[in-house]
Amino acid sequence: MKSRYSLWKLIKEGLTGHSSWGAAWRDAEPQPSYDTIIIGGGGHGLATAYYLAKNHGLRNIAVLEKGWIGGGNTGRNTTVIRSNYYYPESARLYDLSVNLYEKLHKELNYNVMFSQRGIVTIAHSRHDMEAAARWVGAMNSNGVATRMLSKDDIARRVPFLDVSATARYPVYGGFAQEKAGTARHDAVAWGYARAADSLGVDIIQNCEVTGFRRTSDGRVTGVETSRGPIGCNKVGLAVAGSSTVLANMAGFRLPVTSYALQAFVSEPLKPVIDTVVLSLATGTYVSQSDKGGLVIGGALDHYPSYAQRGNMPVARNVLGAIAEQYPALARVRFLRQWAGIVDVVPDSSPIIGRTPVPGLYINCGWGTGGFKAIPAGGTLLAHHIATGQPHRLAAPFSLDRFTTGALIDEAAASGIAH
Ligand SMILES: Cc1cc2nc3c(=O)[nH]c(=O)nc-3n(C[C@H](O)[C@H](O)[C@H](O)COP(=O)(O)OP(=O)(O)OC[C@H]3O[C@@H](n4cnc5c(N)ncnc54)[C@H](O)[C@@H]3O)c2cc1C
Repeated sequence: MKSRYSLWKLIKEGLTGHSSWGAAWRDAEPQPSYDTIIIGGGGHGLATAYYLAKNHGLRNIAVLEKGWIGGGNTGRNTTVIRSNYYYPESARLYDLSVNLYEKLHKELNYNVMFSQRGIVTIAHSRHDMEAAARWVGAMNSNGVATRMLSKDDIARRVPFLDVSATARYPVYGGFAQEKAGTARHDAVAWGYARAADSLGVDIIQNCEVTGFRRTSDGRVTGVETSRGPIGCNKVGLAVAGSSTVLANMAGFRLPVTSYALQAFVSEPLKPVIDTVVLSLATGTYVSQSDKGGLVIGGALDHYPSYAQRGNMPVARNVLGAIAEQYPALARVRFLRQWAGIVDVVPDSSPIIGRTPVPGLYINCGWGTGGFKAIPAGGTLLAHHIATGQPHRLAAPFSLDRFTTGALIDEAAASGIAH
């Protein structure tokens, strides 16, 4: 068991030259076999391994990551955490996650910097306002507290937003979920890694899975990797934008398309925005990090890609829309831009549970919104792997829904374009 992080530990280390912190997790060597292998060292893979050990008492587990942990979308996202979805199935899933996030720093003994600064969604037309009212009604009846905001409420809450009569994107009002917020993305990956490692999970970086070993009747018995073959009884797949690549290796197809999604960070500013602000018409959103940078996101690139950089037309549209909405910030300089490869599903809802390959389970399809779902995604995939049965919250999100037609179409319902 690792030593606990605490104020006393910090003071002691400060007085003794920071000499005995120790590594946050071991650099494990691959063993010949494990009970369970999790492919993908992003938030969902690490959380799955942690909850397998913590909630189900399993110990002989490895997480295999082709690069470094958190180097995929988990370390590239804009960190918005919210549960303001339309359908009850989604509200229950994402609200579980927000509730777990609220306690995560204690659970993991790691400061994930979850800051519940709220999210304000802006309506730019009468029609947006009607959609917002319908949305707020559904969320409140699902037990997710949200409230409508008038134009004046928004002007007070977001002082730099152009709410004038001549604004390029006029502001009619909007709605807010107050318990939404942001967290530090790397810290979520590192916190789960440290906690999983202390429960005996082997975290193996620079270990790319290149194939699956299967019996003649199809059951998975191990994986081929860049560091040699590793046997196992069960495999959990949590590789986001690489899901179709791994599914192809295992011999089945997924209704997933991989796109680049870009993020932008400005030079640090004094505090100007103390909430997350999302614009319905432009699909853009902005928050301000604790370091002062404006963190901005928007739409997907227009074509499928595995290039983690993004294209110029989308960058221009996103930054142009932000400059129109916040004219006072239009001359702020940008420091960084990047993209991650997100796994987009036709109904914009995740896939959690068994696959057509016996012994192989999957967690994918979070698209542009899976950071907020890491604690829930890990909990639910771990439950299915450990018990062989879907958790009741995960059952509606099975892969079967694409054959039964029981889609949970958040793309249409809550205006999530992707
Ligand atoms: C720019 C951007 C902004 C976003 N903003 C938000 C947001 O504000 N809020 C939100 O909730 N979500 C957001 N998301 C989405 C969110 O980041 C993802 O849904 C979430 O991080 C997915 O986590 P994951 O663990 O499934 O995937 P990842 O973090 O991508 O991890 C998958 C891992 O699998 C590894 N892998 C792939 N192939 C192999 C292989 N063959 N062998 C071994 N390992 C492999 C990868 O290297 C990677 O580390 C955003 C995404 C992006 C790109």
